[in-house]
Amino acid sequence: MSADSSSLSIARASYREIPLYSAPAEPCELDVSDNTNLYGVPPSALRALSEPPSAAVTRYPAQYALELKAAIADYVGARPEQIVTGCGSDDVLDSAIRAFAEPGDRIAHSAPTFAMIPIFARLNGLTPVPVPLKKDWDADVDGLLAAKARIIYLCSPNNPTGTVISPEAIARIVREAPGLVILDEAYIEFAREDLKVQLSGERVLVTRTLSKAFGLAGLRIGYAVGAPAVVAEVEKSRGPYKINSLAERAAVAALRNDLAWVRERAEDVRRNRARLTEALKGLGLSPLPSAANFVLVPVPDAARIGQRMREKGVAVRAFVNLAGVGDALRIGLGPWEILEKVLSRLAEVLR
Ligand SMILES: *Cc1c(COP(=O)(O)O)cnc(C)c1O
Repeated sequence: MSADSSSLSIARASYREIPLYSAPAEPCELDVSDNTNLYGVPPSALRALSEPPSAAVTRYPAQYALELKAAIADYVGARPEQIVTGCGSDDVLDSAIRAFAEPGDRIAHSAPTFAMIPIFARLNGLTPVPVPLKKDWDADVDGLLAAKARIIYLCSPNNPTGTVISPEAIARIVREAPGLVILDEAYIEFAREDLKVQLSGERVLVTRTLSKAFGLAGLRIGYAVGAPAVVAEVEKSRGPYKINSLAERAAVAALRNDLAWVRERAEDVRRNRARLTEALKGLGLSPLPSAANFVLVPVPDAARIGQRMREKGVAVRAFVNLAGVGDALRIGLGPWEILEKVLSRLAEVLR
């Protein structure tokens, strides 16, 4: 998007410098660029989408998705009043930022991290303060706290590095932060077996999504878990009717009936993660240690390599000059038959 497309004089002035988010999205034979589920849709969710009752289309959806909240509460080991849902966790993150900081405040986040965070920050009038990850990929706790930010955002496993933040670092930030701590666990199903939310308190909001492990990115379902008083503020900021009826039906079906499907695919991702990491090392590369459903691998001139792979029918996400990493490719994980093809194309391009 060109910058001058947003220079309309009647528009909000602070939006002029904010670009429209756009990841390269031309269709490609094999697309492992966006970390969505390469195994497809969980079966009960798919069934729930075929032949829905007409009221699910004609009438308004539930204002605050109570049935979905109940299903999520069981999944994460919390009570429904500790859950807020949204149109993707993007919506939950945006709403939380708006609810817990005033325009002019700061939000501190590790860098590199989820590309939407600085955008949501600026859309809500906040100044994003990036704090580089440490050499061992852990969060720089002192740096984050020194920003004296109204909100601290952490992402673990982190996108795009795939690395995790240590429990000690998270605990200290939660203890010492002056305001809200958002812990983004979009990839938690690929990192650990126990999916109960482990953090609690009046300052913590844990966000998650059905877009990755649950294979429902197109339905836009995200959620957060926190103390009821915290969640109530996010819900106020989010507003009613955000979860559409079909998405709610499918999401509830998946959470109630497809957990074994999700778990088995997450296990396959873990196996293939180890295998792909070894294979990349065999090509002389040094992939980062990932706990997510993708691997970030530094390469020289990532934009050119990404383009050449695209010409060979494989879309990976290329990053140019990432803080602390340099140029790198992010490769989404899925069935080994797919990864084999990605590997062989990468080997051809690197040769
Ligand atoms: C994919 C992703 C999300 C989720 O997005 P949805 O809006 O729920 O699809 C959130 N955080 C991170 C770090 C992600 O990579």
